[in-house]
Amino acid sequence: RAKRDGRATARFFETGMDACSQARRALEIDLRRALVLDQFELVYQPQMDLDSDRLVGCEALIRWHHPTRGTVSPAEFIPLAEEIGLIVPIGEWVLRTACREAARWPGDVTVAVNLSPAQFRSPALVGAVASALAAAGLAPGRLELEITEGLLLQESQANIDTLNALRALGPRIAMDDFGTGYASLSSLRAFPFDRIKIDRSFVSGPKAERDAMAVVRAIASLGATYGMTTIAEGVETPEQMRDIRSEGCTAVQGYHIGRPMPAAAIARLFADQADTAARSFDPQHSEP
Ligand code: C2E
Ligand code: MG
Ligand code: MG
Ligand code: MG
Repeated sequence: RAKRDGRATARFFETGMDACSQARRALEIDLRRALVLDQFELVYQPQMDLDSDRLVGCEALIRWHHPTRGTVSPAEFIPLAEEIGLIVPIGEWVLRTACREAARWPGDVTVAVNLSPAQFRSPALVGAVASALAAAGLAPGRLELEITEGLLLQESQANIDTLNALRALGPRIAMDDFGTGYASLSSLRAFPFDRIKIDRSFVSGPKAERDAMAVVRAIASLGATYGMTTIAEGVETPEQMRDIRSEGCTAVQGYHIGRPMPAAAIARLFADQADTAARSFDPQHSEP
């Protein structure tokens, strides 16, 4: 029978452990080995600028290819990684991998990386960003760091200091999932963001009805007021794209533009776009 004291919970698969905590425990053991076993992959979702209709960057999204469970969603394992202290090494792997990949893309195409709250609070973060940029030889302005507003519930001096230290290195800072938390408006004033990502619940979620577009419009104009660009997440249809465009957002991301895809595929997409642009300026290469 499972004991109720702390020591008992540290034992693996104790007979009385409920099915749920056993499953969690098993996932935890696997997660601890996933980095060395090279089971993580980054996929990249394109972002399109609405002024030029060109792909100007992408967001890196982590995938865990588990040998028996298949692909595990980050929504499932990132919170676990945070809890058991694995988010720092996993986050460093994400930063290094995304910067290395982005350094191969043409022009000034950007890559956005998600930072989780525990990673943001880690004293190792600023150094990890600097060394990922240096190792890849990536221009710092081509990296964007996404943080969620939940993180900024306390407008503590420590948080402001971390944001300023990150900015001093050169990356852009984006506020992810904007509009879903409670701190949205006040944190826009307190923190120096470059970009607001409008949460997809306002764009294509079940609640995205007529007045959701009014929210999108309000956020776009708020962004303009603070000198921040706005990108709408979760654009799934041509209609949503048209609506978003008319509300004054700067950019869009979503299945309608492109699904998250492996590194080789996004590299090809950016290269093709650069080729097309080069051909259209070069009469030698135009079709006969
Ligand atoms: P997020 O940063 O808000 O990422 C956007 C999520 O929306 C991604 O889910 C993406 O696949 C999904 N998405 C994109 N376009 C559409 C669309 O048109 N419709 C719908 N329904 N969904 C769309 P994903 O990849 O499962 O990631 C979920 C969350 O996990 C992310 O939300 C982010 O918070 C976290 N995450 C992902 N990768 C990382 C990472 O490398 N580090 C950290 N700390 N968190 C990560
Ligand atoms: Mg994100
Ligand atoms: Mg988001
Ligand atoms: Mg999200």
